[in-house]
Amino acid sequence: MILGKKVRLSPTKEQEQKSWQSVGTARFIYNWTLARQEENYKNGGKFIYDNDLRKELTILKKTEELKWLNEVSNNVAKQAVKDGCEAYKKFFKGLADKPRFKSKRKSKPSFYNDNIKLKVKSNMVLIEKVGWIKTAEQLPINVKYTNPRISFDGKYWFITVGMEKEKPIVELTTESIGIDVGIKDLAICSNGMTFKNINKTGLVKKLGKRLRRLQRKISRKYYLNKEGRKFVKTSNIIKLEKQIRLLHRKLSNIRNNHLHQATTKIVKTKPSRVVMETLNIKGMMKNKHLSKAIAQQGLYEFKRQLQYKCEFYGIKFVEADIWYPSSKTCSKCGHVKTKLSLSERTYICEECGAVIDRDFNASINLSRYSA
Ligand SMILES: [Zn+2]
Repeated sequence: MILGKKVRLSPTKEQEQKSWQSVGTARFIYNWTLARQEENYKNGGKFIYDNDLRKELTILKKTEELKWLNEVSNNVAKQAVKDGCEAYKKFFKGLADKPRFKSKRKSKPSFYNDNIKLKVKSNMVLIEKVGWIKTAEQLPINVKYTNPRISFDGKYWFITVGMEKEKPIVELTTESIGIDVGIKDLAICSNGMTFKNINKTGLVKKLGKRLRRLQRKISRKYYLNKEGRKFVKTSNIIKLEKQIRLLHRKLSNIRNNHLHQATTKIVKTKPSRVVMETLNIKGMMKNKHLSKAIAQQGLYEFKRQLQYKCEFYGIKFVEADIWYPSSKTCSKCGHVKTKLSLSERTYICEECGAVIDRDFNASINLSRYSA
């Protein structure tokens, strides 16, 4: 099974500059790919294969205007075309929204390094056209890496690689755990485990408040420093932008750690099966009040982590059918309510008189799900 490994890099100033060059080139080519696909689609054309786009790109790279694209590794360009095509293909098949262009300010800076060209020695890694960069921890030697990516999180540079890892042999219990995810809490499990909504904790609230204050401040400054239609970046604005970037980073680290802790704790109980509801986030996102809370909660990421951790331990991962009445069913007698409003936090059964927390009730029903 392929597992991802992320290691911090300590590039020199010069290496960092070269990395930014690769980031810029990858972004430019990704956007160029999307633009070509879009233009072609609008003119009634079908999907353009990445091989064909790469041939076009080879010609473009010979022009005076775009010869700067040659300054970074050719593999960075190759992969950026592939990534753009991949994103567009998903859109074509109806699996994703139309891919967005990467913006300098908002998209995560990253680029690809060819997996065969990636070399590792003691606490060093060789990045094409950047050089040997120090790593904070030793990357395993003599293993096959897949999809190496270099990225910047607003503070540090990282390398992420996929590596083949053998699954451990784990003895599982006979338990089936049902998990009800939501907005009030992150997850309520049928075995009694509960995981809170991290966004309701004091620290996250405080950081969120600070972030909003900085964002207001910076938009005032943008406005004040506008010259005609042009924005002028003062050193003060640059400083504020950095503070905002670091706060975003901190918040996303806290949220992600919380998801990792929760999903690890669940699989460590070694159940034979885990059942979750099918997430219909696209539908839920249409509700404006809910959409922000759902995005912050990271329910898709929760599912993704749980799924691969289950796979690793050989635990069966099941998504219950979207119509399965996990909330409306009484976990004690099996009675199914015809109506249950979102505000009813406690399930009260009119048939057997059971009184039980709504989410816990749902999680028990999920644990008993049979397809
Ligand atoms: Zn009942």
